[in-house]
Amino acid sequence: MDIQNTVAVVTGGGSGLGEGTSRALTARGSKVAILDLGRSRGAELAHELGESARFLEADVTDEDQTAAAIDKTVAAFGTIHALINCAGIATAGRTLGKRRNVSPDRTEGDMFRPQGTPLALGPFRRTIEVNLIGTFNTIRLAAAQMAKNEPTADGERGVIINTASVAAFDGQIGQAAYSASKGGVVGMTLPIARDLARDGIRCCTIAPGIFETPMLMDLPEVARQSLGASIPFPQRLGTPAEYAALACHIVENVMLNGETIRLDGAIRMAPQ
Ligand code: NAD
Repeated sequence: MDIQNTVAVVTGGGSGLGEGTSRALTARGSKVAILDLGRSRGAELAHELGESARFLEADVTDEDQTAAAIDKTVAAFGTIHALINCAGIATAGRTLGKRRNVSPDRTEGDMFRPQGTPLALGPFRRTIEVNLIGTFNTIRLAAAQMAKNEPTADGERGVIINTASVAAFDGQIGQAAYSASKGGVVGMTLPIARDLARDGIRCCTIAPGIFETPMLMDLPEVARQSLGASIPFPQRLGTPAEYAALACHIVENVMLNGETIRLDGAIRMAPQ
């Protein structure tokens, strides 16, 4: 599919990998609906990108908000050709707590629960809700709109790109919830591609390694450098522009379908 003149919805489009993708798509002539939370930088980014972009406030776990955002995209730009799912949260928590001396101000669900305490189900459910169910929610709603498009010469009506993580394959200590959510995204990629094949809609997933985004900015510089050095080549963190370059290629290459692509400089995560 030609990027020029396509209409894309980018969830989590106000930050990090989604922001990089919103920028790359608009730079190449696409219209972009930035679907993100109200507290995100989505509105500022849409303002900066001008007429080619709109900010649509929605929580991807909320059926009504997401349906309204899809409707508003169609009202603003006519239809939807591409959906790039970047909305997500990173959570951590061991199955059983590990610490012997726990400070009382540590909250339940984090990595610092007293030894032997089971992980609370709330944070586990929330991670699945946002990363997996939120991703499927936008897919089903955007696909219903894509199916109405006139097909290209190849019979193509739309393309969906999800964001998993290498944690779907080599999850680290404390990543049971996050890895399960991302493993779910990997697992549904092929069946969704098969479901939507008759409508000429493709579905692929990108599994990033470690990328320099606000999600990682809380880490001290020394920790980020050490993470970068753990990548075989290139020995640095990935950039949102590199993620966006792959997303743009998937949009353009009609033979890419039903596949998860690792984008990770050959990193294989150690247990911790
Ligand atoms: P980020 O925190 O910079 O951006 C995530 C965006 O998602 C934010 O704008 C946030 O407001 C939005 N969001 C969160 N919950 C939402 C919800 N319920 N509804 C709508 N929007 C919501 O993070 P990022 O690093 O750009 O991550 C993007 C995706 O890439 C995530 O799914 C993340 O798990 C995945 N990922 C990131 C890395 C990395 O190293 N940065 C590695 C692997 C996978």
